[in-house]
Amino acid sequence: MILVILLIDIKTERNMQIIDITSCVEELVKKCGIEDGICLVYTRHTTTGIVINEAESGLLEDILRRMGSLAPPDSGYLHDRIDHNAHAHLQAILLGNCQMVPIEKGHLDLGTWQKILFVELDGPRHRKVQVKMVPE
Ligand code: ZN
Repeated sequence: MILVILLIDIKTERNMQIIDITSCVEELVKKCGIEDGICLVYTRHTTTGIVINEAESGLLEDILRRMGSLAPPDSGYLHDRIDHNAHAHLQAILLGNCQMVPIEKGHLDLGTWQKILFVELDGPRHRKVQVKMVPE
């Protein structure tokens, strides 16, 4: 079994931001030449998330607004005494830090409207997303 591990560099520009990384991941799948297998997309950061959903601009804004209302900033969190970003950690927990996508015939097997979305919750920052591919 050959594992392929690659990194995607992301420079976020806003405090909260969703970036569609589908084409970057698809490019890596193509480059590694795996026909069938599993692709893991994983963020090691504690204030970011990886989700799979539709990349419609209104929905992306809805996701960010809802994250803001589910875990709003300045709500008396204990962690805020350290670096004032407890809300971003809590939002990241709600979203999760990785996604797995099947690779079929050399492509990500995503549904018509599915995109791989990187969610910044405490930016702007320089982030790295790990992409690990495991052939069948
Ligand atoms: Zn923190």
